[in-house]
Amino acid sequence: MAEKADSELVRRQNRRLVLGALRQHGASARVELGRLTGLSPATITTICAQLIQEGVISEANMPLVAPPSGKRGRPVVRLLLNPAAALVLAVKISIDDVMIVLSDFRGETIARNEVRLPTYEAGRNAFGVALADAIAGFLAWQNIPSRRLARIGIAIQGLADSRHGTIVWSPAFKAGDIPVAQPIEARFGVPCFVANDANMIAEGLVASDRARYGGVTAAIFTGYGVGMGVIINGEVFHGATGAAAEFGHMNHVPKGALCRCGKRGCVEAYVADYGILRHYAGETAQDAPRTAVPESTMIGLHQKAKAGDNRARAAFELAGSTLGYGIGRVISILNPDRVVLAGPGLQTSELMEQAMHDALEQSVVEVLRRDVAIEQVRFSDDMIIRGTIDSLLRTIDREIFAAAATNVGTATA
Ligand SMILES: [Zn+2]
Repeated sequence: MAEKADSELVRRQNRRLVLGALRQHGASARVELGRLTGLSPATITTICAQLIQEGVISEANMPLVAPPSGKRGRPVVRLLLNPAAALVLAVKISIDDVMIVLSDFRGETIARNEVRLPTYEAGRNAFGVALADAIAGFLAWQNIPSRRLARIGIAIQGLADSRHGTIVWSPAFKAGDIPVAQPIEARFGVPCFVANDANMIAEGLVASDRARYGGVTAAIFTGYGVGMGVIINGEVFHGATGAAAEFGHMNHVPKGALCRCGKRGCVEAYVADYGILRHYAGETAQDAPRTAVPESTMIGLHQKAKAGDNRARAAFELAGSTLGYGIGRVISILNPDRVVLAGPGLQTSELMEQAMHDALEQSVVEVLRRDVAIEQVRFSDDMIIRGTIDSLLRTIDREIFAAAATNVGTATA
C-alpha cells in the first residue's frame, strides 16, 4: 500500500516538474525538459505521452535556428502547454471598481473588462452577490460557460482572509468581514481564493523571473496605500490566514497619525500619498480620503518641495524616513537578498528616496544591510493581475494537472 502511495507521489511530483518547466520556459523539446527537470528520458517520454493524451500539453514542429553553414535546420518537436486545457479568471477589486481578466492555460489574456461596481457603500452580504453578477455578465459576454473555469482568484487592497475567503478590512469598503469566495463558489461551482494585492505583486515578480526572485525578497508597494509581499525561496509567503507582511500597518509612531485602518501611527499613515498630503497640510488627525489622491496632486506637491517649500519637503522626507526605518526592520527580521520597491510613490520623489536611504543607514548595522539589493521596479496595475493569474495557474498545475490522468481535458466547451 505504502509503496503504491509513494509511486503516486513521485508521479505527481514529476508531472508537476514538467508542467512547471513548460510554464517557465515555454515551448521545449523533450531533451530540454530532461535537462530542466533532471528527469530521465524514459520518464519524460512517459509523462509527456500522458499529458498529450489528456490534452494538457501538445506537440509542435518548430524549425531549429539555421546553422551557420547556411543549410536549413532540421525541425525539432517541441512541447507546449495547451491553452485550452483550462481557463482561469482573475479579479482585482478597487474602490467602486472591478477589473475582470480571463486567461487561458498558457497565461495569455483572452478578455478583460473593467466594471463599475459599488464597493464602499455595499452591504456586507450584498457585495459577494453583486460581484458574482458582474462575473456572470462577463462570462455571458464572452460566451464562456462557467464550468470551463478551473479557478477564480480575487486580489484586494487591505486584509484578506484566505482561509475563510473574506475581505477582513479594506479601504475600498465601509463594511468589514465581507464573504467573497463563498458566494462566488456557490454561484459558479468553481474554487475561488481571496488574496492581498501586494502578495499578488510578489507572485507577479516571481513569475516574471524565477531565477532573480528565487531567494528571499521583500516587495514593497507605495502609492495610494502601502503593502508588502514576502518571497521566501521563490515562494510567496502568505502566513496562516493570508495576512502575512502587513508592512503598511506596522506601527511606526505610537499614537501617531491616523491611518485608514482606524489605528494610529501605522507606516502607511506617513508613507501613502494621503499621508504625505496630510502632513503637508498639517492635518494628521483627519480621516484619510476615500478615494486615491490624483497623481497630478502628488507631482504638484513634489514640485513645490523642489522649489523650496519647506513643509512640502518635510512631508516627503518624513515619508522617506518612515519607509527607511520600516525596511530596516524588515531586513533585520528576514535577511533578504532583495528589497523591491514598486508603486508610483517613490517614482514621484527623489527627496523621499534620499530620506529612505538615510534612515536605512541609521537603523540597520552595515553588516546586515550591505548585501541587500534595494531595487525599484516600474509598477502597473497589471502586475497584480499577472500575479493573480500566475498564482491560479500554478495552483491548478499542482491541484488538478499534476494529479489524476482522468477527468481533465476541459478543452471541449
Ligand atoms: Zn493602518
